[in-house]
Amino acid sequence: MSTHQVPPKHLVIFGRPGSGKSSLAERLSKDDGYLLVRTGEMLRAVVRSGSELGLRIGASLERGELVSDELIIELLEQNLVRPEEQRLIFDGYPRTLRQEELLEQFEERLQFEIDCFLEIRLSRESAIRRMGGRRVCPTCGATYHLLSRPPAVAEVCDQCKGALATRSDDSEAVITFRQRVYDDHVPPIIDRIMSRTPELFRWVDGEGGPDETYARTRQVLGLPPL
Ligand code: ADP
Repeated sequence: MSTHQVPPKHLVIFGRPGSGKSSLAERLSKDDGYLLVRTGEMLRAVVRSGSELGLRIGASLERGELVSDELIIELLEQNLVRPEEQRLIFDGYPRTLRQEELLEQFEERLQFEIDCFLEIRLSRESAIRRMGGRRVCPTCGATYHLLSRPPAVAEVCDQCKGALATRSDDSEAVITFRQRVYDDHVPPIIDRIMSRTPELFRWVDGEGGPDETYARTRQVLGLPPL
């Protein structure tokens, strides 16, 4: 691990399902004012709209499959407003090599630069063990974990008081499948980054508890300790 003196302005976080990537991104957003760019959340918003497209996406998410690159690009086009003016964290994008290439095109076209790629490293076995306890608020999208990040009141969202749910893509078979999808797609993306801009790549050990991983992440990103 090396230290980054200037905290990144445009950060991409990679981490397998169960790595704690999304709650880490939420903490960075809250503590340091990053805007989160979350393709998973954009997709769930389309699913909640109940449209025909939403129904189709919902079926893919339940099977743990990636949705098409075209759809993701379209959602990003709609949601990425003046990226050069904001501090951003891409959480859940890119997930395929093609999406990484398209991100490079976005940077050129919209005149911004990803200045750090961070990988949260966790073994597949640890990830599978962790994923059983995940909960999400279907209303506002906040995420919890029964062991490491429980809500103040059992099964109730701290933020909007909605009833928490298990994500429908958290069944055992789907959990294993999603790990395979990650292992098939993300290493080639990281290889590409290492061959083009190795100086922008950072990683943290994600095997410890959430606070420990968060403290390490802040250090690796050059953010002050809290
Ligand atoms: P997690 O970080 O736990 O994998 P996300 O909320 O990022 O969860 O994503 C949930 C699901 O949405 C993924 O399993 C995948 O099916 C779909 N998805 C999210 N982002 C992308 C993307 N960039 N490309 C393709 N599918 C995506």
